[in-house]
Amino acid sequence: LRDPSIFVKFPLKDKPGESLLIWTTTPWTLPANVAVMVHPDETYVRVRVGGEVLILMEARLEAVASELGWENYEVIERFPGSELEGLSYEHPLREMVPALKNLERGHVVILSSKYVSTEEGTGCVHAAPGHGQEDYEEVHLNRGLPILSPVDDSGRFTEEAGPYAGIPVRDANPKIIEDLEEFGALAGAGYIVHRYPVCWRCKTPLIIRATEQWFVHLSDLKDRLIEEMEKVRWSPGWARDRFRNWLEELRDWVISRQRFWGTPLPIWQCESCGHTVVVGSADELGELAGRRPAELHRPWVDEITFSCPKCGGTMRRVPDIVDVWYDSGVSFFASLGYPKNPEEFERLFPVDFITEGHDQTRGWFFSLLRLGVLLFGRAPYRSVLMHGFMLDEKGQEMHKSLGNFEPPDKIVAEVGRDAFRLFVMTRTQWSDIKFVWKDLRNMVRTLNTIWNIHTFASTYMADMELDEGYVRAHLSDLPAVDRWILSRAASVRDTVSRAMDSLSPHEAASAVLEFYVEDLSHLYLHAVRAALRGGGEEGRAKANVLFTVLRYMLPILGLFAPFIAEEIYQKSLKQDGEPVSVNMLPFPTERSDWKDLELESEMETVRAIIKAGLQARANAKLKRRAPLRELVVVTTDGEVQRAARDFADVLQMELNVKGVRVAAEPPEGEWTSVEFEGGRVYLPAKLTEEDML
Ligand SMILES: [Zn+2]
Ligand SMILES: [Zn+2]
Repeated sequence: LRDPSIFVKFPLKDKPGESLLIWTTTPWTLPANVAVMVHPDETYVRVRVGGEVLILMEARLEAVASELGWENYEVIERFPGSELEGLSYEHPLREMVPALKNLERGHVVILSSKYVSTEEGTGCVHAAPGHGQEDYEEVHLNRGLPILSPVDDSGRFTEEAGPYAGIPVRDANPKIIEDLEEFGALAGAGYIVHRYPVCWRCKTPLIIRATEQWFVHLSDLKDRLIEEMEKVRWSPGWARDRFRNWLEELRDWVISRQRFWGTPLPIWQCESCGHTVVVGSADELGELAGRRPAELHRPWVDEITFSCPKCGGTMRRVPDIVDVWYDSGVSFFASLGYPKNPEEFERLFPVDFITEGHDQTRGWFFSLLRLGVLLFGRAPYRSVLMHGFMLDEKGQEMHKSLGNFEPPDKIVAEVGRDAFRLFVMTRTQWSDIKFVWKDLRNMVRTLNTIWNIHTFASTYMADMELDEGYVRAHLSDLPAVDRWILSRAASVRDTVSRAMDSLSPHEAASAVLEFYVEDLSHLYLHAVRAALRGGGEEGRAKANVLFTVLRYMLPILGLFAPFIAEEIYQKSLKQDGEPVSVNMLPFPTERSDWKDLELESEMETVRAIIKAGLQARANAKLKRRAPLRELVVVTTDGEVQRAARDFADVLQMELNVKGVRVAAEPPEGEWTSVEFEGGRVYLPAKLTEEDML
């Protein structure tokens, strides 16, 4: 923002010809000046410039002299800032501005090591406690000097500002500078481009102004709030630390706002004696006033008056409304109709779970906690999942005005709801997410894989009489690969349950996708495809296992991809008498009887063998479609031996070999071999006549 940058002389009362030199970028705050702050421990100088003596900080002298174009100046004295304490000065606008003229205590030098900088200005800081938090703290709270703020609610000067009355404060800057010049108080004027607070919405520069407000005395409650916050489960854990740090800095709560729309502040005040009544309910107001307002909002509620119990004067509502964070903070009971209808609230309080973005530490997480503790003596929620923001591909915030904003309806039209949802759900929830179209398209491919599994399955299952009883009856004699896929389904179900309980839905979503793609599509279906196609007894057995696994997993898939899961349910997996929607199915029960962690670990070894085998083929330039005589797994590790034997059929299929042999010693002859963790795989180095047969 471009603002005036002016240097002003404040003449000292008892030292004719000597002035404090101050600097400001807000000339409009000069009619509200109450004090000048100097740093007690910095060195200050008296400088003779022309015919007068100016006082400023030594560290600022060179910069100020060059900015004001002083050619001949002379330092006549150096001394610590603390010596200036208590000196009185004559405000140059005093005679014109009633607020300044009527100021009884003020226009003195005070010390502040906190708010006087050696980096800018003159080291003599103009302080207007009515127009700045820091000045308010140092001048009013710490020194007890009065507050001047001759500015009204519309941002214009009041009568107290004399000739500036009625002018919007920033528009008065030129006139104030002119007047200072006329009184010989201006030492220099220019412009500065600097950071200045503006309205987030319309960019209008803000006016900081001290006003009377209603507060809730919260600082004494800090320890209680922290205690309650500690009992909440936070995901991620560091959200708790962030919240604690924020609570440590807690100040009292300004609960009043000067707006028309909103929840009216229920405070009535006596016009005559100032007696205050806080009204607790519409009934209470009805009793006090003898009638109830037609509406509890403005303007109706403002018509309700009653007589003061102290002096008989008229009690009127203060015109303020309540901070909107009050409204957001009571959502935990207001949304349930409490206190009018207490049943639901009493059943559900405190709520199990809330989730919001990481900007809400100071926002909703806090506003709920604050009112939970104030009104019910405890945190109103048991657990919080704090999520990240969606950023653009380069990691920048998305804004319509920057043109990098992707509207959700466009995303849904391009890739569908399930892909969009999974894209978000598989990312670490509390990290910001970069929106990358390629990642969304990959998610579409993953969903296609899941869809194809079911299309394939229903092709073979269509004419079969299938039921889950088959698995129950034959569990222990099922082939290893069938027992493995059942075990994986049971394990993934447990992983999902655990991850959801620990508020890490991304771990759950990733486990589900990995199951469908890596376990079911790439491994299991590959291994059993031929048997399924072959039909007969074996085909029906595989179909029964597949049917059981798909039905077991479908309600879990429904948590993360509800639309595709619904379609699959309606088209192929729903049985007579089952609920109308997949999302009405219960979460699957634990299947510890299916679980065989040893078998799952064996399959990990098999995966390593397959990977090594494919590498060996590539090294020897043997295409996978050329069938080879034999795979030899050389190992002395008992578990690897077991894995290769249990899953010989899977290895045969995946590496396209006619036999699998486990040996302790490398085979004789020409072989290509690759190492894996636990052993080495050997494949014939070239095709022999025998291989061709
Ligand atoms: Zn605005
Ligand atoms: Zn009264």
